[in-house]
Amino acid sequence: MNLILLGPPGAGKGTQAKLLSEGLGLWHISTGDILREELKAGSDLGCLAKTFIDKGELVPDSLVIKLIEKKILEAKGKNGFILDGFPRNLAQAKSLDSIFKIYNLSIDWVIYFEASQKTIVQRLSGRRVCKVCFANFHLNNMPPKKENICDYCGGELYQRPDDNEETIKNRLRVYLKSASLLIDYYEKQKKLFKVNADFNAEKVYQILLKTFEEKKPN
Ligand SMILES: [Zn+2]
Repeated sequence: MNLILLGPPGAGKGTQAKLLSEGLGLWHISTGDILREELKAGSDLGCLAKTFIDKGELVPDSLVIKLIEKKILEAKGKNGFILDGFPRNLAQAKSLDSIFKIYNLSIDWVIYFEASQKTIVQRLSGRRVCKVCFANFHLNNMPPKKENICDYCGGELYQRPDDNEETIKNRLRVYLKSASLLIDYYEKQKKLFKVNADFNAEKVYQILLKTFEEKKPN
């Protein structure tokens, strides 16, 4: 089974990707992770990506797609994969479809994580990151043992400047605007499933498992 997870930051995609990949043996393909891996490995694609990152530019779509293609091929013949954080726009979705066609692959479900503004603000504004090792914490859901101190390395925790309420609301507006075209695209392909992401992670996970079970795609 091959899945795409869509939804705004704070909707819980990363958490579900982890649960689904562990529970169903699917490969978790996250664009952020791939870029970090390739940079670390110093591969040709990684070095090329670095030239953009060093200039403070976004890594172009064509390069991100090459990296995804490489990962999808590695996952071929296994149980399937989960794409998390990609595609982000209609052009990327169409490129992805042409890659799938070449390798005779298809997406079974596109899951859209629908979360209210209130939930997203609550989740993201409670986030704290370690200045030293970048570990993530959450004031309500995953508080550090000592206030403002990292459990792992003792570093100081801070709130990222873009995790304040106004910036979060603004990011959400921008996301929803660009996502509507993607949602339409996958709705027309009859692959879209919207899940209420205001529920806690365990409940969302159970809803997804039940959906895969009941409405097996062809
Ligand atoms: Zn730390």
